[in-house]
Amino acid sequence: MSQLTFASLLTPPAAPPVVVPTPAMAPIVMPAPVAVPVTVAVPATISHNGEFTIASPKGGHRTFRIKTVKHGSLKGKRILALLNGPDNTTSYVGFAFVNKTATGFDVWNRYKKNPFSTGTDWEFYATMLAEMILKGDESIFVAKGYRLLSSTRCRVCNRLLTHPNSIDSGIGPECELKEAGL
Ligand SMILES: [Zn+2]
Repeated sequence: MSQLTFASLLTPPAAPPVVVPTPAMAPIVMPAPVAVPVTVAVPATISHNGEFTIASPKGGHRTFRIKTVKHGSLKGKRILALLNGPDNTTSYVGFAFVNKTATGFDVWNRYKKNPFSTGTDWEFYATMLAEMILKGDESIFVAKGYRLLSSTRCRVCNRLLTHPNSIDSGIGPECELKEAGL
């Protein structure tokens, strides 16, 4: 029978830590720096609200509006909408938000593709418009003959112009007829 000693009541000293030698690490080889042309461009953003028309080289066009929500739970959000009716000041259907960094659009879920489709027209519009706004003349769509037009107003009646022909000429079709004396 071992005798209980004061020393045996003490916690034995902790075992010395086992030192496991770490395998030698391969030196990290940094690639040699490559000269990159320095561009001092400020990161492009979707900086403007308003109406934008994309004119296709085939003659069609689509008009979009970016507008900031002023009231309600979405206050402060910038909504991208498509013109889908006869009145170019009211006939818009929203389908995306300008993202937090204003570098693209977040298409609303109900307008996104399902797992069995390749993407919706809405997603294509959002991608195309963002690309054209952010890249300007460098846009791949400009290279394909598309044009991005910002809306202006008719010089006769001040109505919003969203048709490419009207934006180009600065006058709406009705006023153009009047101006021509027809
Ligand atoms: Zn007019």
